[in-house]
Amino acid sequence: MKAVVWHGIGDIRLDDVADPQIQEPTDAVIDITRSAICGTDLHFIRGTMAPMAEGTILGHEAVGVVTEVGSAVRGLTPGDRVVVSSAVSCGTCRYCRMGQTAQCDVANPNGPQAGTCFFGGPESTGPVNGLQAEKARIPWAVNTLIPIPDGVSDEQAILCSDIFPTAWFGAELAGVTRGDTVLVLGAGVVGQFAIESAKRQGAGRVIVVDRVQTRLAQALEQHAEVVNFDEEDPVEVVMSLTGGVGVDRVIDCVGVDSQRPQRGPAAEQAEEQAEQFAQEVQQVAPDADPQGDLWVPGNAPSQAAQWAVQCVAKNGQIGIIGVYGPTMTSYPIGAAMNKNLTIRMGNCDHRTTIPPLLDLVATGVVDPTRFISQEVGTSSAIEAYERFDQREEGWLKTVLDVA
Ligand SMILES: [Zn+2]
Ligand SMILES: [Zn+2]
Repeated sequence: MKAVVWHGIGDIRLDDVADPQIQEPTDAVIDITRSAICGTDLHFIRGTMAPMAEGTILGHEAVGVVTEVGSAVRGLTPGDRVVVSSAVSCGTCRYCRMGQTAQCDVANPNGPQAGTCFFGGPESTGPVNGLQAEKARIPWAVNTLIPIPDGVSDEQAILCSDIFPTAWFGAELAGVTRGDTVLVLGAGVVGQFAIESAKRQGAGRVIVVDRVQTRLAQALEQHAEVVNFDEEDPVEVVMSLTGGVGVDRVIDCVGVDSQRPQRGPAAEQAEEQAEQFAQEVQQVAPDADPQGDLWVPGNAPSQAAQWAVQCVAKNGQIGIIGVYGPTMTSYPIGAAMNKNLTIRMGNCDHRTTIPPLLDLVATGVVDPTRFISQEVGTSSAIEAYERFDQREEGWLKTVLDVA
């Protein structure tokens, strides 16, 4: 079968690989009908995440049809349409039974302290072969696969594999409650769903910071209050919009590939921190291998974290869902300490977050397809990666039509 395979930093290829097989009685195999490229995938190619194993199939978002189940799989049968939880979880351990499926004790073959196990990730997360492929082996299928309600299309379900649940989880981490003023950092597709999620969880106002015009335009369509950090200083704008108090909650949807302002009033301060940012880039991406404009790590790894701490009100709360790898050790902890902040973070508990969101889609309350900007065949996957990587206008979310 065809699959997108990681060969090295700056080197991914569309390869012919062996079809996946059932390996454990708890496995299933699915035919994938839709997959997607996620910002998280870019970290592995830019070198801003932990080491990958060569030959790992990339991708952690998919929708498909069950074709085969292991002997211990009850509750699923061939022919079932399913959405794949990006993170693998067993369903039996104490974490899974508390709903904290991203910290499943059993799924990660590196042991219970190794953290989240997800498809198509670094060695430390499994590795488990990913979902940008025609077929996939699904460990702990009963827990990792979620049946799709009738009436929800593959195009609608694909954004419920990782993007919508991660954004929803981010709003929960930020502790959004009724009436809150919420700042969303980053208006990529997770940021777009963070706006939606914050509003549904009760936010009174949502302010969004980015610099890509097409992303800001989509945030504005959702009636978020948009700020372009290349034109205005986001901290100044947030303070003036909130009577000098700051926002109640921040959802950081950016993570380690943060970019600093290139122009405008915020660029000057970023320039003063240029040396610090350069050291951070060296620390988080020592093996980066940019090819011209391609696979370039973000030039200011702690920029979003700094803005979060500066923009939030005293005693406020920050939820971090933008990806930071273990090599990222800088965070403005002193400033946060002196504002009595609460900071929560982590990988989405997909298994327990996805089902109610599928219901929001099934009932027509939310239509995720409005955030799909490109739909391409698998043969164009590498080109799609390259264009998405360059942060081009109009590239919000690429879905791979595998069927
Ligand atoms: Zn993703
Ligand atoms: Zn578990």
